[in-house]
Amino acid sequence: MLAAAIFAVMITAQYLLPKRGQSGVGPSPESRSNPRSQPPILVNSQGKKAATGPVATLSRNTKRNGRPEDDKIRAMTDDKVAELGAQGAVPLYSLEKLLQDPARAVKVRRKVVSRYECISQSNFSLEGSHLPHEGYDYAKVLGACCENVIGYMPLPVGVAGPLNVDGTRVFIPMATTEGALVASTNRGCTAINAGGGVVTALLADGMTRGPTVRFRDLQRASEAKAWLDSEHGYRSIEAAFNSTSRFGRLQSARSVIVGSELFIRFKSFTGDAMGMNMMSKGVEKALAAMVEGGFEDMHVTSLSGNYCTDKKSAGINWIEGRGKSISAQATIPGDVVRTALKTDVDTLVDLNRSKNLVGSAVAGSVGGFNAHAANIVTAIFIATGQDPAQNVASSSCLTTMTKVGEDLQISVYMPSIEVGTVGGGTILGPQQAMLDLMGVRGSKEDCPGGNAQKLARIVASGVLAGELSLCSALAAGSLVRSHMAHNRK
Ligand code: NAP
Repeated sequence: MLAAAIFAVMITAQYLLPKRGQSGVGPSPESRSNPRSQPPILVNSQGKKAATGPVATLSRNTKRNGRPEDDKIRAMTDDKVAELGAQGAVPLYSLEKLLQDPARAVKVRRKVVSRYECISQSNFSLEGSHLPHEGYDYAKVLGACCENVIGYMPLPVGVAGPLNVDGTRVFIPMATTEGALVASTNRGCTAINAGGGVVTALLADGMTRGPTVRFRDLQRASEAKAWLDSEHGYRSIEAAFNSTSRFGRLQSARSVIVGSELFIRFKSFTGDAMGMNMMSKGVEKALAAMVEGGFEDMHVTSLSGNYCTDKKSAGINWIEGRGKSISAQATIPGDVVRTALKTDVDTLVDLNRSKNLVGSAVAGSVGGFNAHAANIVTAIFIATGQDPAQNVASSSCLTTMTKVGEDLQISVYMPSIEVGTVGGGTILGPQQAMLDLMGVRGSKEDCPGGNAQKLARIVASGVLAGELSLCSALAAGSLVRSHMAHNRK
Protein backbone atom coordinates (compact mmCIF):
# COMPACT_ATOMS: atom_id res chain seq x y z
CA MET A 1 0.00 0.00 0.00
CA LEU A 2 2.77 2.36 1.03
CA ALA A 3 4.68 1.63 -2.17
CA ALA A 4 1.55 2.36 -4.20
CA ALA A 5 1.04 5.64 -2.37
CA ILE A 6 4.64 6.74 -2.99
CA PHE A 7 4.29 5.75 -6.63
CA ALA A 8 1.12 7.83 -6.95
CA VAL A 9 2.97 10.82 -5.52
CA MET A 10 5.76 10.43 -8.06
CA ILE A 11 3.40 10.13 -10.99
CA THR A 12 1.38 13.07 -9.78
CA ALA A 13 4.54 15.13 -9.47
CA GLN A 14 5.38 14.34 -13.06
CA TYR A 15 2.18 15.85 -14.40
CA LEU A 16 1.08 18.31 -11.76
CA LEU A 17 4.15 19.99 -10.32
CA PRO A 18 4.54 23.61 -11.41
CA LYS A 19 6.91 24.25 -14.30
CA ARG A 20 9.72 26.79 -14.06
CA GLY A 21 8.30 30.30 -13.84
CA GLN A 22 4.90 29.19 -12.62
CA SER A 23 3.94 30.07 -9.12
CA GLY A 24 2.87 26.97 -7.29
CA VAL A 25 3.55 27.91 -3.67
CA GLY A 26 0.66 27.03 -1.38
CA PRO A 27 -2.92 26.49 -2.41
CA SER A 28 -4.17 29.09 -4.87
CA PRO A 29 -6.90 31.38 -3.53
CA GLU A 30 -9.08 29.92 -6.28
CA SER A 31 -8.80 26.37 -5.02
CA ARG A 32 -10.64 27.34 -1.86
CA SER A 33 -13.60 28.81 -3.65
CA ASN A 34 -13.63 27.20 -7.07
CA PRO A 35 -15.06 23.66 -7.00
CA ARG A 36 -13.51 22.93 -10.42
CA SER A 37 -10.02 23.15 -9.02
CA GLN A 38 -10.71 20.73 -6.17
CA PRO A 39 -9.50 17.16 -6.69
CA PRO A 40 -12.38 14.93 -7.79
CA ILE A 41 -14.17 12.87 -5.15
CA LEU A 42 -13.06 9.42 -6.09
CA VAL A 43 -14.65 6.07 -5.79
CA ASN A 44 -12.70 2.84 -6.09
CA SER A 45 -13.88 -0.20 -7.98
CA GLN A 46 -15.94 -1.30 -4.95
CA GLY A 47 -17.78 2.02 -4.91
CA LYS A 48 -16.04 3.21 -1.73
CA LYS A 49 -14.47 6.64 -1.42
CA ALA A 50 -10.74 6.40 -2.18
CA ALA A 51 -8.06 8.11 -0.18
CA THR A 52 -6.70 11.27 -1.78
CA GLY A 53 -4.00 11.79 0.83
CA PRO A 54 -0.88 11.03 -1.23
CA VAL A 55 -1.96 13.44 -3.95
CA ALA A 56 -2.90 16.15 -1.46
CA THR A 57 0.38 15.90 0.45
CA LEU A 58 2.71 15.61 -2.50
CA SER A 59 6.08 17.22 -2.09
CA ARG A 60 7.36 19.85 -4.49
CA ASN A 61 10.82 18.39 -4.19
CA THR A 62 9.87 15.06 -5.76
CA LYS A 63 12.27 14.35 -8.64
CA ARG A 64 12.12 12.04 -11.62
CA ASN A 65 14.97 10.90 -13.82
CA GLY A 66 13.97 9.96 -17.39
CA ARG A 67 10.57 8.29 -17.74
CA PRO A 68 10.87 4.85 -16.12
CA GLU A 69 7.53 5.46 -14.39
CA ASP A 70 5.82 5.54 -17.78
CA ASP A 71 7.07 2.04 -18.53
CA LYS A 72 5.79 0.87 -15.15
CA ILE A 73 2.37 2.36 -15.83
CA ARG A 74 2.21 0.78 -19.27
CA ALA A 75 2.86 -2.61 -17.64
CA MET A 76 -0.07 -2.15 -15.22
CA THR A 77 -3.55 -3.49 -15.80
CA ASP A 78 -6.09 -1.10 -17.29
CA ASP A 79 -7.89 -0.94 -13.94
CA LYS A 80 -4.72 0.09 -12.13
CA VAL A 81 -3.99 2.83 -14.68
CA ALA A 82 -7.58 3.99 -14.38
CA GLU A 83 -7.20 4.21 -10.62
CA LEU A 84 -4.15 6.45 -11.05
CA GLY A 85 -6.12 8.54 -13.52
CA ALA A 86 -9.02 8.85 -11.14
CA GLN A 87 -6.63 9.99 -8.39
CA GLY A 88 -5.50 12.80 -10.66
CA ALA A 89 -2.04 11.26 -10.93
CA VAL A 90 -2.42 10.87 -14.69
CA PRO A 91 -4.38 13.57 -16.50
CA LEU A 92 -7.20 12.35 -18.73
CA TYR A 93 -5.73 14.02 -21.80
CA SER A 94 -2.30 12.39 -21.42
CA LEU A 95 -3.34 8.76 -21.77
CA GLU A 96 -2.48 8.38 -25.46
CA LYS A 97 1.02 9.78 -24.95
CA LEU A 98 1.57 7.77 -21.80
CA LEU A 99 0.24 4.39 -22.95
CA GLN A 100 1.48 4.68 -26.56
CA ASP A 101 -1.65 2.81 -27.64
CA PRO A 102 -4.58 4.97 -28.79
CA ALA A 103 -7.21 2.23 -28.51
CA ARG A 104 -6.07 1.30 -25.00
CA ALA A 105 -6.06 4.97 -24.01
CA VAL A 106 -9.72 5.25 -25.01
CA LYS A 107 -10.61 2.11 -23.05
CA VAL A 108 -8.79 3.35 -19.93
CA ARG A 109 -10.31 6.83 -20.23
CA ARG A 110 -13.79 5.30 -20.12
CA LYS A 111 -12.79 3.58 -16.88
CA VAL A 112 -11.38 6.78 -15.38
CA VAL A 113 -14.51 8.77 -16.23
CA SER A 114 -16.63 5.97 -14.79
CA ARG A 115 -14.83 6.34 -11.43
CA TYR A 116 -15.74 9.97 -10.97
CA GLU A 117 -18.45 10.23 -8.35
CA CYS A 118 -20.81 12.12 -10.66
CA ILE A 119 -20.86 9.03 -12.89
CA SER A 120 -20.28 6.15 -10.46
CA GLN A 121 -23.07 7.29 -8.16
CA SER A 122 -25.55 7.56 -11.01
CA ASN A 123 -27.42 4.75 -12.72
CA PHE A 124 -25.38 5.30 -15.86
CA SER A 125 -22.34 3.23 -16.77
CA LEU A 126 -20.09 4.68 -19.46
CA GLU A 127 -18.16 1.43 -19.84
CA GLY A 128 -21.32 -0.59 -20.34
CA SER A 129 -23.05 2.06 -22.43
CA HIS A 130 -24.06 1.96 -26.08
CA LEU A 131 -21.31 4.43 -27.00
CA PRO A 132 -19.00 2.12 -29.00
CA HIS A 133 -15.23 2.32 -28.83
CA GLU A 134 -13.85 -0.83 -30.42
CA GLY A 135 -12.86 -1.23 -34.05
CA TYR A 136 -12.00 2.42 -34.67
CA ASP A 137 -8.79 3.87 -36.07
CA TYR A 138 -7.89 6.25 -33.22
CA ALA A 139 -4.38 6.76 -34.52
CA LYS A 140 -5.78 9.27 -37.02
CA VAL A 141 -7.81 11.14 -34.42
CA LEU A 142 -5.36 12.55 -31.88
CA GLY A 143 -3.64 15.73 -32.97
CA ALA A 144 -6.12 16.17 -35.79
CA CYS A 145 -9.76 15.60 -34.98
CA CYS A 146 -10.60 15.17 -31.28
CA GLU A 147 -9.15 15.03 -27.77
CA ASN A 148 -10.13 13.17 -24.57
CA VAL A 149 -11.71 10.52 -26.77
CA ILE A 150 -14.11 8.03 -25.13
CA GLY A 151 -15.50 6.39 -28.27
CA TYR A 152 -17.20 7.33 -31.48
CA MET A 153 -20.75 8.28 -32.43
CA PRO A 154 -22.26 6.08 -35.12
CA LEU A 155 -24.88 7.78 -37.26
CA PRO A 156 -27.05 6.32 -39.98
CA VAL A 157 -25.90 7.32 -43.45
CA GLY A 158 -28.33 7.25 -46.35
CA VAL A 159 -27.86 8.02 -50.02
CA ALA A 160 -29.95 10.17 -52.30
CA GLY A 161 -29.67 9.80 -56.06
CA PRO A 162 -27.86 9.15 -58.19
CA LEU A 163 -28.36 12.76 -59.23
CA ASN A 164 -27.20 14.03 -62.58
CA VAL A 165 -24.83 16.91 -61.73
CA ASP A 166 -23.23 18.64 -64.71
CA GLY A 167 -23.67 15.50 -66.80
CA THR A 168 -22.27 13.04 -64.22
CA ARG A 169 -24.41 10.78 -62.04
CA VAL A 170 -23.48 10.97 -58.37
CA PHE A 171 -24.85 9.41 -55.18
CA ILE A 172 -25.16 11.91 -52.33
CA PRO A 173 -24.28 10.55 -48.85
CA MET A 174 -26.26 12.02 -45.96
CA ALA A 175 -25.68 11.34 -42.26
CA THR A 176 -28.83 12.19 -40.38
CA THR A 177 -31.32 11.09 -37.76
CA GLU A 178 -34.17 13.04 -39.32
CA GLY A 179 -36.49 10.49 -40.86
CA ALA A 180 -37.92 11.55 -44.25
CA LEU A 181 -34.94 13.79 -45.11
CA VAL A 182 -33.10 11.32 -47.36
CA ALA A 183 -36.34 10.00 -48.87
CA SER A 184 -37.44 13.53 -49.68
CA THR A 185 -34.08 14.53 -51.19
CA ASN A 186 -34.12 11.32 -53.20
CA ARG A 187 -37.55 12.22 -54.60
CA GLY A 188 -36.15 15.61 -55.61
CA CYS A 189 -33.28 13.87 -57.41
CA THR A 190 -35.70 11.70 -59.38
CA ALA A 191 -37.70 14.72 -60.53
CA ILE A 192 -34.55 16.68 -61.45
CA ASN A 193 -33.10 13.76 -63.42
CA ALA A 194 -36.33 13.56 -65.41
CA GLY A 195 -35.64 17.07 -66.64
CA GLY A 196 -31.99 16.37 -67.58
CA GLY A 197 -30.22 17.07 -64.27
CA VAL A 198 -28.57 20.00 -62.54
CA VAL A 199 -26.30 22.59 -64.14
CA THR A 200 -23.95 24.38 -61.74
CA ALA A 201 -21.71 27.43 -61.94
CA LEU A 202 -18.77 28.20 -59.63
CA LEU A 203 -18.88 31.96 -59.09
CA ALA A 204 -15.96 32.39 -56.65
CA ASP A 205 -13.56 30.33 -54.54
CA GLY A 206 -11.81 31.94 -51.58
CA MET A 207 -11.63 31.37 -47.82
CA THR A 208 -11.35 34.35 -45.48
CA ARG A 209 -9.76 35.28 -42.17
CA GLY A 210 -10.33 38.73 -40.66
CA PRO A 211 -7.99 39.78 -37.84
CA THR A 212 -8.41 42.89 -35.72
CA VAL A 213 -5.32 45.06 -35.16
CA ARG A 214 -5.01 48.29 -33.19
CA PHE A 215 -3.02 51.51 -33.61
CA ARG A 216 -2.59 54.51 -31.37
CA ASP A 217 -5.20 56.54 -33.29
CA LEU A 218 -7.29 56.81 -36.43
CA GLN A 219 -4.52 58.65 -38.29
CA ARG A 220 -2.12 55.74 -37.86
CA ALA A 221 -4.76 53.14 -38.70
CA SER A 222 -5.47 55.09 -41.90
CA GLU A 223 -1.79 55.00 -42.85
CA ALA A 224 -1.80 51.22 -42.41
CA LYS A 225 -4.91 50.87 -44.56
CA ALA A 226 -3.37 53.06 -47.28
CA TRP A 227 -0.25 50.87 -47.20
CA LEU A 228 -2.33 47.70 -47.50
CA ASP A 229 -4.23 49.19 -50.43
CA SER A 230 -1.01 50.27 -52.18
CA GLU A 231 0.65 48.04 -54.78
CA HIS A 232 3.82 47.76 -52.69
CA GLY A 233 2.02 47.02 -49.42
CA TYR A 234 -0.28 44.42 -50.94
CA ARG A 235 2.61 42.66 -52.73
CA SER A 236 4.50 42.48 -49.42
CA ILE A 237 1.69 40.77 -47.53
CA GLU A 238 0.86 38.59 -50.54
CA ALA A 239 4.43 37.26 -50.71
CA ALA A 240 4.45 36.61 -46.97
CA PHE A 241 1.05 34.87 -47.04
CA ASN A 242 1.86 32.71 -50.07
CA SER A 243 5.16 31.57 -48.57
CA THR A 244 3.28 29.56 -45.94
CA SER A 245 1.54 27.10 -48.27
CA ARG A 246 1.95 25.33 -51.59
CA PHE A 247 -1.72 25.97 -52.30
CA GLY A 248 -2.80 29.12 -50.46
CA ARG A 249 -2.80 32.12 -52.82
CA LEU A 250 -3.93 35.47 -51.48
CA GLN A 251 -6.67 37.08 -53.55
CA SER A 252 -7.50 40.23 -51.62
CA ALA A 253 -7.21 42.07 -48.31
CA ARG A 254 -10.07 44.51 -47.86
CA SER A 255 -10.12 46.52 -44.67
CA VAL A 256 -12.26 48.86 -42.60
CA ILE A 257 -11.32 51.17 -39.74
CA VAL A 258 -13.35 51.61 -36.58
CA GLY A 259 -11.74 54.24 -34.35
CA SER A 260 -8.12 53.14 -33.96
CA GLU A 261 -8.86 49.56 -34.96
CA LEU A 262 -8.27 48.06 -38.37
CA PHE A 263 -10.18 44.97 -39.49
CA ILE A 264 -8.60 43.19 -42.47
CA ARG A 265 -10.48 40.52 -44.39
CA PHE A 266 -7.82 38.35 -46.05
CA LYS A 267 -9.23 36.16 -48.81
CA SER A 268 -7.33 33.30 -50.39
CA PHE A 269 -7.63 30.33 -52.67
CA THR A 270 -6.99 27.24 -50.53
CA GLY A 271 -6.83 24.39 -53.04
CA ASP A 272 -8.73 21.31 -51.92
CA ALA A 273 -8.58 22.34 -48.24
CA MET A 274 -11.50 24.12 -46.59
CA GLY A 275 -8.62 26.31 -45.50
CA MET A 276 -9.15 27.73 -42.03
CA ASN A 277 -5.85 26.50 -40.61
CA MET A 278 -4.13 27.47 -43.82
CA MET A 279 -5.61 30.96 -43.57
CA SER A 280 -4.63 31.43 -39.94
CA LYS A 281 -1.05 30.42 -40.72
CA GLY A 282 -0.82 32.71 -43.73
CA VAL A 283 -2.47 35.68 -42.03
CA GLU A 284 -0.07 35.49 -39.09
CA LYS A 285 2.84 35.79 -41.53
CA ALA A 286 1.14 38.58 -43.48
CA LEU A 287 0.64 40.59 -40.29
CA ALA A 288 4.33 40.09 -39.48
CA ALA A 289 5.10 41.54 -42.93
CA MET A 290 2.99 44.58 -42.04
CA VAL A 291 5.07 45.09 -38.91
CA GLU A 292 8.25 44.79 -40.97
CA GLY A 293 6.77 47.17 -43.52
CA GLY A 294 6.83 50.02 -41.01
CA PHE A 295 4.05 49.31 -38.55
CA GLU A 296 6.01 48.21 -35.50
CA ASP A 297 3.43 50.03 -33.37
CA MET A 298 0.63 47.74 -34.58
CA HIS A 299 -0.95 45.59 -31.89
CA VAL A 300 -2.62 42.36 -33.02
CA THR A 301 -5.67 42.16 -30.78
CA SER A 302 -6.93 38.92 -32.29
CA LEU A 303 -5.96 36.84 -35.32
CA SER A 304 -9.69 36.37 -35.83
CA GLY A 305 -11.62 39.59 -35.42
CA ASN A 306 -14.97 38.16 -36.58
CA TYR A 307 -14.64 40.05 -39.85
CA CYS A 308 -13.96 36.60 -41.41
CA THR A 309 -16.79 35.58 -40.49
CA ASP A 310 -16.45 31.95 -39.33
CA LYS A 311 -19.30 29.93 -37.80
CA LYS A 312 -21.50 32.95 -37.11
CA SER A 313 -24.25 34.50 -39.16
CA ALA A 314 -22.93 37.56 -41.03
CA GLY A 315 -24.10 39.68 -43.94
CA ILE A 316 -20.55 39.91 -45.30
CA ASN A 317 -20.51 36.20 -46.16
CA TRP A 318 -23.89 36.51 -47.80
CA ILE A 319 -22.81 39.48 -49.93
CA GLU A 320 -19.13 38.77 -50.61
CA GLY A 321 -19.13 34.98 -50.37
CA ARG A 322 -16.86 32.68 -48.36
CA GLY A 323 -15.47 29.34 -49.51
CA LYS A 324 -17.18 28.35 -52.72
CA SER A 325 -19.97 30.48 -54.23
CA ILE A 326 -22.25 28.31 -56.34
CA SER A 327 -25.38 28.77 -58.44
CA ALA A 328 -27.26 25.64 -59.47
CA GLN A 329 -30.30 25.26 -61.70
CA ALA A 330 -32.64 22.59 -63.03
CA THR A 331 -35.73 22.49 -65.19
CA ILE A 332 -38.53 20.10 -64.21
CA PRO A 333 -41.10 19.19 -66.87
CA GLY A 334 -44.64 20.19 -65.87
CA ASP A 335 -45.92 16.59 -66.08
CA VAL A 336 -43.12 15.40 -63.75
CA VAL A 337 -44.13 18.07 -61.23
CA ARG A 338 -47.65 16.60 -61.34
CA THR A 339 -46.75 12.89 -61.28
CA ALA A 340 -43.59 12.72 -59.15
CA LEU A 341 -44.12 15.75 -56.93
CA LYS A 342 -47.94 15.67 -56.68
CA THR A 343 -48.39 19.39 -57.24
CA ASP A 344 -48.29 21.83 -60.18
CA VAL A 345 -45.90 24.51 -61.41
CA ASP A 346 -48.08 27.53 -60.60
CA THR A 347 -48.67 26.39 -57.02
CA LEU A 348 -44.94 25.77 -56.49
CA VAL A 349 -43.91 29.14 -57.92
CA ASP A 350 -46.42 30.92 -55.71
CA LEU A 351 -45.42 28.96 -52.62
CA ASN A 352 -41.75 29.74 -53.19
CA ARG A 353 -42.49 33.47 -53.62
CA SER A 354 -44.62 33.64 -50.52
CA LYS A 355 -42.54 31.41 -48.21
CA ASN A 356 -38.92 31.67 -49.30
CA LEU A 357 -38.91 35.27 -50.51
CA VAL A 358 -41.64 37.29 -48.77
CA GLY A 359 -41.79 35.24 -45.58
CA SER A 360 -38.03 35.33 -45.12
CA ALA A 361 -37.98 39.08 -45.86
CA VAL A 362 -40.66 39.67 -43.23
CA ALA A 363 -38.56 37.65 -40.79
CA GLY A 364 -35.51 39.84 -41.51
CA SER A 365 -33.51 36.86 -42.71
CA VAL A 366 -29.86 37.04 -43.81
CA GLY A 367 -29.27 34.25 -46.30
CA GLY A 368 -32.28 32.27 -45.18
CA PHE A 369 -34.33 32.57 -48.36
CA ASN A 370 -34.85 28.85 -48.62
CA ALA A 371 -36.91 26.00 -47.18
CA HIS A 372 -34.29 23.78 -45.51
CA ALA A 373 -30.88 24.07 -47.16
CA ALA A 374 -29.25 23.47 -43.74
CA ASN A 375 -30.75 19.97 -43.62
CA ILE A 376 -28.94 18.78 -46.72
CA VAL A 377 -25.76 20.77 -46.07
CA THR A 378 -25.36 19.42 -42.54
CA ALA A 379 -26.11 15.82 -43.47
CA ILE A 380 -23.51 15.89 -46.26
CA PHE A 381 -21.02 17.72 -44.03
CA ILE A 382 -21.22 15.07 -41.32
CA ALA A 383 -21.00 12.20 -43.83
CA THR A 384 -17.91 13.64 -45.51
CA GLY A 385 -15.85 14.95 -42.57
CA GLN A 386 -16.52 18.66 -43.04
CA ASP A 387 -16.53 21.00 -40.04
CA PRO A 388 -20.24 20.75 -39.10
CA ALA A 389 -20.25 24.13 -37.33
CA GLN A 390 -19.65 25.71 -40.71
CA ASN A 391 -23.20 24.87 -41.68
CA VAL A 392 -23.99 28.40 -40.44
CA ALA A 393 -22.77 30.26 -43.52
CA SER A 394 -22.65 27.22 -45.79
CA SER A 395 -26.44 26.84 -45.55
CA SER A 396 -27.09 30.39 -46.73
CA CYS A 397 -29.25 29.95 -49.79
CA LEU A 398 -31.65 31.82 -52.03
CA THR A 399 -34.12 29.53 -53.78
CA THR A 400 -35.95 30.82 -56.83
CA MET A 401 -38.70 29.21 -58.92
CA THR A 402 -39.99 30.42 -62.28
CA LYS A 403 -42.52 29.06 -64.76
CA VAL A 404 -40.93 28.65 -68.19
CA GLY A 405 -43.50 27.49 -70.72
CA GLU A 406 -45.23 24.61 -68.92
CA ASP A 407 -42.13 23.69 -66.91
CA LEU A 408 -40.59 24.68 -63.59
CA GLN A 409 -37.19 26.34 -63.54
CA ILE A 410 -35.70 26.10 -60.05
CA SER A 411 -32.38 27.46 -58.84
CA VAL A 412 -30.34 27.91 -55.68
CA TYR A 413 -27.71 30.59 -55.06
CA MET A 414 -25.30 29.58 -52.28
CA PRO A 415 -22.44 32.09 -51.83
CA SER A 416 -20.63 30.51 -48.85
CA ILE A 417 -20.13 26.76 -49.13
CA GLU A 418 -17.13 26.01 -46.88
CA VAL A 419 -15.87 22.57 -47.86
CA GLY A 420 -12.63 20.68 -48.35
CA THR A 421 -11.51 17.22 -49.43
CA VAL A 422 -8.19 17.27 -47.54
CA GLY A 423 -7.56 18.12 -43.87
CA GLY A 424 -9.90 18.13 -40.87
CA GLY A 425 -12.34 15.21 -40.66
CA THR A 426 -11.70 14.21 -44.27
CA ILE A 427 -8.64 12.22 -43.09
CA LEU A 428 -10.87 9.64 -41.35
CA GLY A 429 -11.58 6.34 -43.12
CA PRO A 430 -15.41 6.32 -43.15
CA GLN A 431 -15.57 9.96 -44.23
CA GLN A 432 -13.03 9.26 -46.96
CA ALA A 433 -15.19 6.39 -48.18
CA MET A 434 -18.08 8.84 -48.67
CA LEU A 435 -15.81 11.25 -50.55
CA ASP A 436 -14.74 8.28 -52.70
CA LEU A 437 -18.42 7.54 -53.37
CA MET A 438 -18.60 10.92 -55.09
CA GLY A 439 -15.12 10.71 -56.64
CA VAL A 440 -13.80 13.74 -54.74
CA ARG A 441 -11.43 12.36 -52.10
CA GLY A 442 -8.16 14.07 -51.33
CA SER A 443 -6.03 16.35 -53.43
CA LYS A 444 -6.88 16.78 -57.09
CA GLU A 445 -3.36 16.33 -58.35
CA ASP A 446 -3.76 17.63 -61.91
CA CYS A 447 -5.87 20.61 -60.79
CA PRO A 448 -5.62 21.50 -57.06
CA GLY A 449 -8.95 22.69 -55.75
CA GLY A 450 -10.93 20.69 -58.31
CA ASN A 451 -12.15 18.10 -55.81
CA ALA A 452 -13.34 20.65 -53.24
CA GLN A 453 -15.05 22.68 -55.95
CA LYS A 454 -16.84 19.59 -57.26
CA LEU A 455 -17.96 18.76 -53.73
CA ALA A 456 -19.42 22.27 -53.40
CA ARG A 457 -21.30 21.80 -56.69
CA ILE A 458 -22.70 18.49 -55.38
CA VAL A 459 -23.75 20.12 -52.08
CA ALA A 460 -25.65 22.84 -53.97
CA SER A 461 -27.24 20.24 -56.26
CA GLY A 462 -28.36 18.18 -53.26
CA VAL A 463 -29.84 21.33 -51.74
CA LEU A 464 -31.68 21.97 -55.00
CA ALA A 465 -33.23 18.49 -54.79
CA GLY A 466 -34.15 19.03 -51.14
CA GLU A 467 -35.74 22.41 -51.84
CA LEU A 468 -37.76 21.03 -54.72
CA SER A 469 -39.11 18.10 -52.74
CA LEU A 470 -39.93 19.91 -49.49
CA CYS A 471 -41.63 22.81 -51.26
CA SER A 472 -43.65 20.28 -53.26
CA ALA A 473 -44.68 18.50 -50.06
CA LEU A 474 -45.79 21.83 -48.58
CA ALA A 475 -47.66 22.73 -51.76
CA ALA A 476 -49.39 19.35 -51.82
CA GLY A 477 -50.13 19.49 -48.10
CA SER A 478 -48.31 16.18 -47.55
CA LEU A 479 -45.56 17.32 -45.18
CA VAL A 480 -47.14 16.08 -41.96
CA ARG A 481 -48.25 12.82 -43.56
CA SER A 482 -44.77 11.96 -44.86
CA HIS A 483 -43.10 12.88 -41.58
CA MET A 484 -45.52 10.69 -39.66
CA ALA A 485 -44.68 7.84 -42.06
CA HIS A 486 -40.87 8.29 -41.94
CA ASN A 487 -40.30 9.94 -38.56
CA ARG A 488 -42.33 7.77 -36.20
CA LYS A 489 -42.48 4.05 -36.04
P1 NAP B 1 -5.25 21.58 -42.88
O1 NAP B 1 -5.17 20.08 -42.87
O2 NAP B 1 -4.88 22.29 -41.65
O3 NAP B 1 -4.35 22.13 -44.08
C1 NAP B 1 -4.36 21.50 -45.32
C2 NAP B 1 -3.04 20.73 -45.50
O4 NAP B 1 -3.14 19.89 -46.65
C3 NAP B 1 -1.88 21.70 -45.75
O5 NAP B 1 -0.76 21.22 -45.06
C4 NAP B 1 -1.69 21.59 -47.25
O6 NAP B 1 -0.39 21.82 -47.69
C5 NAP B 1 -2.06 20.15 -47.50
N1 NAP B 1 -2.52 19.87 -48.87
C6 NAP B 1 -2.15 18.79 -49.60
N2 NAP B 1 -2.77 18.78 -50.78
C7 NAP B 1 -3.55 19.86 -50.81
C8 NAP B 1 -4.45 20.41 -51.76
N3 NAP B 1 -4.67 19.81 -52.96
N4 NAP B 1 -5.10 21.55 -51.49
C9 NAP B 1 -4.91 22.16 -50.29
N5 NAP B 1 -4.07 21.71 -49.35
C10 NAP B 1 -3.39 20.56 -49.59
O7 NAP B 1 -6.71 21.96 -43.40
P2 NAP B 1 -7.45 23.35 -43.36
O8 NAP B 1 -8.55 23.19 -44.36
O9 NAP B 1 -6.53 24.51 -43.50
O10 NAP B 1 -8.07 23.39 -41.91
C11 NAP B 1 -9.16 22.54 -41.65
C12 NAP B 1 -9.28 22.35 -40.17
O11 NAP B 1 -9.38 23.62 -39.56
C13 NAP B 1 -10.50 21.58 -39.77
O12 NAP B 1 -10.14 20.61 -38.82
C14 NAP B 1 -11.37 22.62 -39.12
O13 NAP B 1 -12.22 22.05 -38.18
C15 NAP B 1 -10.34 23.53 -38.52
N6 NAP B 1 -10.75 24.89 -38.24
C16 NAP B 1 -9.76 25.74 -37.85
C17 NAP B 1 -10.07 27.04 -37.58
C18 NAP B 1 -8.97 27.97 -37.19
O14 NAP B 1 -9.28 29.09 -36.81
N7 NAP B 1 -7.73 27.60 -37.30
C19 NAP B 1 -11.38 27.51 -37.71
C20 NAP B 1 -12.36 26.65 -38.14
C21 NAP B 1 -12.02 25.33 -38.39
P3 NAP B 1 0.42 23.15 -47.39
O15 NAP B 1 1.09 22.92 -46.06
O16 NAP B 1 1.39 23.32 -48.49
O17 NAP B 1 -0.55 24.29 -47.31
